[in-house]
Amino acid sequence: IDAGLFGMALYYFISMGTNSAMMIRQTMQLDVNLQSAQRIMDYTETQQEAPSEMYNDAAVVKEHGGVWPSKGEISFQNVFLRYEGTKRYALNGLDFTAQPGSKIGIVGRTGAGKSTLLQALFRMVEIEEIPGSQIRVDGVHIKRIGLEMLRKNICIIPQTPIIFSGTIRRNLDPFNEVADAKLWEILEEVNLKPYIERLEKKLDTDITVSSSIFSAGQKQLVCLARVLLRKSKILVLDEATANVDIETDEFIQKKIKEKFSDATILCIAHRLTTIADYDKVMVLEKGRIEEFDHPYKLLVKNPGDNYISNKQGMFARMVIKNGDKIANKIFEIAKDSYQQAKKNGTIY
Ligand code: ATP
Ligand code: MG
Repeated sequence: IDAGLFGMALYYFISMGTNSAMMIRQTMQLDVNLQSAQRIMDYTETQQEAPSEMYNDAAVVKEHGGVWPSKGEISFQNVFLRYEGTKRYALNGLDFTAQPGSKIGIVGRTGAGKSTLLQALFRMVEIEEIPGSQIRVDGVHIKRIGLEMLRKNICIIPQTPIIFSGTIRRNLDPFNEVADAKLWEILEEVNLKPYIERLEKKLDTDITVSSSIFSAGQKQLVCLARVLLRKSKILVLDEATANVDIETDEFIQKKIKEKFSDATILCIAHRLTTIADYDKVMVLEKGRIEEFDHPYKLLVKNPGDNYISNKQGMFARMVIKNGDKIANKIFEIAKDSYQQAKKNGTIY
């Protein structure tokens, strides 16, 4: 081969290397840039939530004398719910009414649909459209009102405590509606005042940068404080499974009973002792209500029995599984509360 020809071939061969490297870089750049376009496409296709305000919101509030809900009655009628992309119903024909002021404990195995029930109440997931299927709060069909009004007026303490980014003040009072003195008062009530007073910036401490300044239990207390600030006639709580110590747990329960004595409470409980003195216990299984009655009545075959006689009952079996000592304790609490309720005429 001619030396000149070989030189030229070599020259082109070397520049091909740089060019192909350039080509690969360009292709990668194109891929990255197109991802942004794809993401925007995805956002435009995301299913939208229902409107946050509806034209008759104000009328509903007026009808109920200025505050909604004014009594706190919750009624589920033939409610079915299925998460998007799944076949199985997470709620399978739920039908119950929570009387104003009643305290209802919800129990059931993991995956039974307990949290889903709360999701349905807040319309985080919409229920199946079936004639006659609806959720009413104080007689108001919750699909007929705006999401903002619905969610603002039901208090919740979620399973995992939610802390917003920003300052402590913003976490307690996101809409800046309350004076500082009131905030401190509430913090004192939940035993967080001494701790926050010791922080350098007090209420203005940024939680985002130092998310570790609160332990899991303290976060739960922040949620409790938030709920106490916005007291309403309905409180739902999804009890934390593991991350809170028993002392904090008992403290939260005590505070809630004290402060929400006239409100309707739906409490998803993992420790059965918490709900032993509730007005009713709902046992969920695969999205259905299996049992729904006063805990004492679920534990005995005949009212008046002095031991857990309804051994086959689902709730009774759950109680017995806790061992004799705890089971007896739950039974005694339930029995006392039943007798007390009978005396006061508050059997729901
Ligand atoms: P746990 O005691 O563990 O909190 P749970 O009773 O609250 O359980 P849910 O979270 O209500 O259970 O779940 C009920 C059913 O719905 C389960 O079968 C679960 O797999 C399903 N599920 C829950 N959330 C979703 C979701 N976002 N998408 C699809 N399926 C879901
Ligand atoms: Mg749950």
